[in-house]
Amino acid sequence: MKQSLLITLFFLLLTINNKSIAQEYNYSIACLTGKELSKFQNPTNRLHKEAYRSFLAMQKEAAKDNIQIQIVSGYRSFNRQLQIFNRKYTRYQKQGLSKIQILNKITEYSTIPGTSRHHWGTDIDIIQKISNPPKNLLVAKNYEEAGVFCNMKEWMDKNAHKYGFDLVYTNDTNRTGFKYEPWHYSYAPIAKKLLTQFIQYETHNAIYKDLKKSKIKMDSLFFKKYLKTHIYNTDNEYINN
Ligand SMILES: [Zn+2]
Repeated sequence: MKQSLLITLFFLLLTINNKSIAQEYNYSIACLTGKELSKFQNPTNRLHKEAYRSFLAMQKEAAKDNIQIQIVSGYRSFNRQLQIFNRKYTRYQKQGLSKIQILNKITEYSTIPGTSRHHWGTDIDIIQKISNPPKNLLVAKNYEEAGVFCNMKEWMDKNAHKYGFDLVYTNDTNRTGFKYEPWHYSYAPIAKKLLTQFIQYETHNAIYKDLKKSKIKMDSLFFKKYLKTHIYNTDNEYINN
């Protein structure tokens, strides 16, 4: 009798514990798409609390090696991404490009609102703090070989994974989607879970409705293809975990 009570208690505790772990990563569709903040994000910089804690630890460690890491873009809301998208759309339209040409051009580097990993507070764009930074910061050549941020990139190649940060838009030629972004790091322990949720919740239906409401110029076939090439297979390893 006593033993069975103990066993029941054990499983009850296990369930409660599992539930709290699951909830730790649970974002609503509104949070996954940058429409609302989750309770896991800092109200000030809106980064995921765990991701930010880990970033600060990494930043401190890098500083010991004289590398000052600076975030230039962290959390981004749906509306902010919409502004970026619309600004680029108008620019390319003026250049005389067709709708599909424009959509292809925008999604070389920018996301369609609602699909950005920056909505989750787990992803950051970083630079190295230096005295004379170039005008265009987020350019691949700045991070490679003799580029101005190459010391930081080298340090990140060696150490970022220790703090849970990974490059997602790598220079792997087998990868489809966004171009190489050596500045974009993702806090993998949380972001992997959120991408799985993003796919499981069929978030794209909610996003497509929001895009229509925002009067954004979109094409449903393009959007479907984009999800496959740019979002779902950001990294196959992300989906399997
Ligand atoms: Zn980014």
